[in-house]
Amino acid sequence: MESRGAPGGMARRTFLAASLSGIATVVLASCTWPEPSPSPVPSSAPATTAPPAPTNGVPAPTAMRRSRWGADPFSRGAFSFDAVGTTPELRRALGQPVGGRLVIAGEATDAENPGSLAGARASGTRAAADIARLGEAGERVAVIGAGVAGLTAARDLVDAGFEVVVIEARDRLGGRAHSVAATGFERPVELGAVFTGDDEAMIDALHEASVDTVPFAAEVAAATTAGLRVPIPPTGAEAIATAKHWASTQPRDVSLAAALADSGAAPLPAEPGADGVSPADWLAHTINSGVAPSTGAATAVISAIQYDPTRLEHLGELITGRLSDYIDELAEPLDIAVSSVVTSIAYNDRRVSLRLDSGESLNADRAIVTVPLGVLKTDTVRFSPALPLMHQRAISLLGMGVVDTVWLRFEEAFWRADAPDDADAPDDADAPGVAPGTEPAPAANVLTVVGELSPVAAWIDAGIDSGEPILVGIIAAAQAIRLEALDDQAFQAAVLDALVPFATTPG
Ligand SMILES: Cc1cc2nc3c(=O)[nH]c(=O)nc-3n(C[C@H](O)[C@H](O)[C@H](O)COP(=O)(O)OP(=O)(O)OC[C@H]3O[C@@H](n4cnc5c(N)ncnc54)[C@H](O)[C@@H]3O)c2cc1C
Repeated sequence: MESRGAPGGMARRTFLAASLSGIATVVLASCTWPEPSPSPVPSSAPATTAPPAPTNGVPAPTAMRRSRWGADPFSRGAFSFDAVGTTPELRRALGQPVGGRLVIAGEATDAENPGSLAGARASGTRAAADIARLGEAGERVAVIGAGVAGLTAARDLVDAGFEVVVIEARDRLGGRAHSVAATGFERPVELGAVFTGDDEAMIDALHEASVDTVPFAAEVAAATTAGLRVPIPPTGAEAIATAKHWASTQPRDVSLAAALADSGAAPLPAEPGADGVSPADWLAHTINSGVAPSTGAATAVISAIQYDPTRLEHLGELITGRLSDYIDELAEPLDIAVSSVVTSIAYNDRRVSLRLDSGESLNADRAIVTVPLGVLKTDTVRFSPALPLMHQRAISLLGMGVVDTVWLRFEEAFWRADAPDDADAPDDADAPGVAPGTEPAPAANVLTVVGELSPVAAWIDAGIDSGEPILVGIIAAAQAIRLEALDDQAFQAAVLDALVPFATTPG
């Protein structure tokens, strides 16, 4: 059984091997944070002898780190979304105990805050309460998956007097909460969740674990491909609202794409206005920078009724500390077997038997399964007997979206150059990059492009408070799938190209 630290330079734990019921388990023993490396070499790009020259005015980054959640066999996507035909009841059904022995948890089973840290945490609490109701203290419970849901459930059950073992496929904890000490960054890089969400209990739990956060009120800027900052009209949001309203009058759920077309909300006129942007461009902007990053999916598969256009208004606070400190705190008293992939789960009215890819097996009185929806959709974890039809239906209908993050650090925050830094400056309205006759944009912390399909849905200025020149790119849906297939060099070229509008000052 594995007895090692997490990958990617995060040798922050020492695992002590122990043994329980035929499988080895590990116990967290220590926690250190490595010194940041001063190397300017991009952390996940191939080492180069000299940094590349600026491209189209975009300076070369001094460091880069990217995620690949779609290709990851232990997540198979970023988070669940409401595909056509889904309802909140379907998520609740997925979380219903099976045969009194098994409970499925994880963000996809939370109807209130799916696809979030808060949803994962709430699902863990709910699953532990179900097990505590069905069983009795002293029973052995296996928790599959050491993400927020699994660790929360395990902690609650240990507190309630159960004997708990957590079984985790990866050689690290946290799942889609993944902080790395990436070369060239002086702060933790969050490859998964970046925002707290606005659930107070979740924010409190993070603060109790000393995870620093800063308030984040999104100020979204849009730039044309020519580098002109243009105010964002309500055109796209209104079209989506029209489509949703139309969909709510239909006998059955339809996709957002179908609702846009059949309600008459789209297509919108393609003739550009004075700023070079057409109404059709603005709808495409809303879809690319709003719908895609909040679902990880295309409008052709998203439920028109369930799609929540306000989701990005509930980002909560920006995580500036290390999210994995919260994970470490949850994990501290737990027995956790890492690098242990569960391949089958057999259950009857007396017990649950797990088989691992190593050939080892483990018996428990009950089990909580927190593997992501994307994993449940595959046959890599087999259930015997098969899950009830309602659970199978939920797994099949709910969607798993793909969203990736790319962290870039630069010598300077060149994208802030156009933002007015002196509100009293008399000529701000005439500043370069501001459309004639419009008010200057407020200091933006979210950058988007209008007028072309940018591969990066939005750039978050993660250093706007600290002054650090760091951008976090959010790459979503088809663009995420396309970019995940690129090697680091081609990937970096593609995302830097998406920054050209913010490096260009029109003459
Ligand atoms: C790019 C990205 C950005 C995000 N941004 C935000 C955000 O800003 N705010 C927010 O609140 N949420 C965000 N989320 C969502 C949030 O991270 C997740 O909802 C949450 O972390 C899910 O926790 P979980 O415990 O349900 O699943 P996971 O964290 O995925 O845990 C499941 C665990 O199961 C393990 N596992 C899988 N298969 C097996 C197996 N066969 N055997 C054993 N173990 C297995 C996995 O390795 C994993 O550790 C984001 C997610 C991503 C990917």
